[in-house]
Amino acid sequence: MPKKIVIIGSGFSSLSAACYLAQAGNEVHLYEKNQTLGGRARQLKEEGFTFDMGPSWYWMPDIFEKFFGDFNKKVSDFYQLEKLDPAYYVWFKDEVVTIGDTLDKIATEFERIEPGSSPQLKKFIKNAGVNYDIAINDVVNKPGLSPFELVTPETAVRVNQFFKTISDDVRKAFKNEKLVSILEFPVLFLGAKPNNTPAFYRFMNYADFGLGTWHPKGGMHEVIKGMIKLAHSLGVKTHTSAGASKILVDQGKVQGIIVNGETITADYVVSGADYHHSETLLDPSYRQYTEKYWDSRVFAPSSLLFYVGFDKKFDNVAHHNLFFDTDFDQHARTIYDDLAWPEEPLFYANFPSVSDETMAPEGKENGFFLIPIAPGVEDTQALRDQYFDIIMERLERLSGQNFRNHIIFKKSFCVDDFVSEYNSYKGNAYGMANTLKQTAFLRPNLRSKKVKNLYFTGQLTVPGPGVPPALISGKLVSQLISKSIK
Ligand SMILES: Cc1cc2nc3c(=O)[nH]c(=O)nc-3n(C[C@H](O)[C@H](O)[C@H](O)COP(=O)(O)OP(=O)(O)OC[C@H]3O[C@@H](n4cnc5c(N)ncnc54)[C@H](O)[C@@H]3O)c2cc1C
Repeated sequence: MPKKIVIIGSGFSSLSAACYLAQAGNEVHLYEKNQTLGGRARQLKEEGFTFDMGPSWYWMPDIFEKFFGDFNKKVSDFYQLEKLDPAYYVWFKDEVVTIGDTLDKIATEFERIEPGSSPQLKKFIKNAGVNYDIAINDVVNKPGLSPFELVTPETAVRVNQFFKTISDDVRKAFKNEKLVSILEFPVLFLGAKPNNTPAFYRFMNYADFGLGTWHPKGGMHEVIKGMIKLAHSLGVKTHTSAGASKILVDQGKVQGIIVNGETITADYVVSGADYHHSETLLDPSYRQYTEKYWDSRVFAPSSLLFYVGFDKKFDNVAHHNLFFDTDFDQHARTIYDDLAWPEEPLFYANFPSVSDETMAPEGKENGFFLIPIAPGVEDTQALRDQYFDIIMERLERLSGQNFRNHIIFKKSFCVDDFVSEYNSYKGNAYGMANTLKQTAFLRPNLRSKKVKNLYFTGQLTVPGPGVPPALISGKLVSQLISKSIK
């Protein structure tokens, strides 16, 4: 018997859940508070430039292929994918390290920096690949309902990897600090410090060096467009400028939501909005987690972002550039311990128009800049301006060219915008970190323990932050609902 299912939010996780639940024959309605769909992966179009507002790294192409494959489709039915070479540049004070598109190329670069390190790298990535298979085929596909889900023959023999950290592993294998920071970088996608992330997550290094960095032509938002097209073809009805102000419950069972003053009834409700916000839509007695609980969690960083249009093309920048020319530890301390603005921030510069001419008008460059910062820090225009100057000065000095004289469009986005645009807890950019104490069954639940037929999905629940996990999260919640309907 088909059910009426209401989904709050339109990020990757909500769209994924919507597709699976509609495929199962349910009547699915999706409600998004903003004017456009896509959540943190919305798109900004200004003066001929196309900016991805959130994610820009397309990793784990197999997960996207699996998602569309579940609907008998292929990624290429919706967007065109290109493997980037170089995958990215890492800028240090005295040199730029090039991460190429094959492990052999990367190993050659490692050997140049730390003689003798290339066999070690290949071994490290091979082991990471084994973890990747276990994680992707097994661990991340569990709904996080019980600790026993994690106990498989494969994980049992790797149990020590849940008690060692990525940092321990990397530092044991490599001595050169530059190589250490390059191998610790992928962990930042999990939202925590490398010395607080279980070594099992080294599978992210396989995602990076083994599977490579890809780019959907037209930007990451093309993936969202593909998912919307798929959802509509399956009968999902999408509603924008339609924020939910209340989740209705009667005698412990969900009844629907209120949107713009109107009651929308439903058999099931799934919220893909930030979990903390979703619970505030419930009467206090139906909330599972207290403010103290949320306050005690390790959140992924917030970010100061700039979307900038330049009137010319630049030399020697890659599509993706990491600026690791300052000390990682001092910056990480400000995010996780001091909760303050960093003095000398690391930052990320993305110039998608380097490899995709559709992202900027001819002869011009599209720039996206990101500084990770502590969630909840003070956010003022003066601070945004100050940090823009800090990173521009370093970009100009290290790359030997002027950027600031060539700006024709600039928009910033920071903590306050994450709160007002996405109802994000403390303005976090990408959810709750995947630390040992916040992994799998230790994360906020996909299924409400207090309200029947109420479910949650997205980056604060299982499996965690990032676009591929969001796709998986939507599938997991749809499986739980399908089971409950039977
Ligand atoms: C700047 C940035 C860079 C990132 N870079 C990468 C990257 O390169 N690669 C990668 O894999 N991941 C990246 N991430 C993480 C990734 O984008 C997210 O993990 C993922 O998009 C989260 O999807 P979601 O469905 O959980 O949530 P969201 O995308 O946040 O969707 C939640 C939606 O709910 C809506 N909503 C909130 N309240 C309500 C309400 N009351 N009623 C209706 N709707 C509501 C919000 O407006 C939003 O649209 C990045 C994130 C950010 C912010």
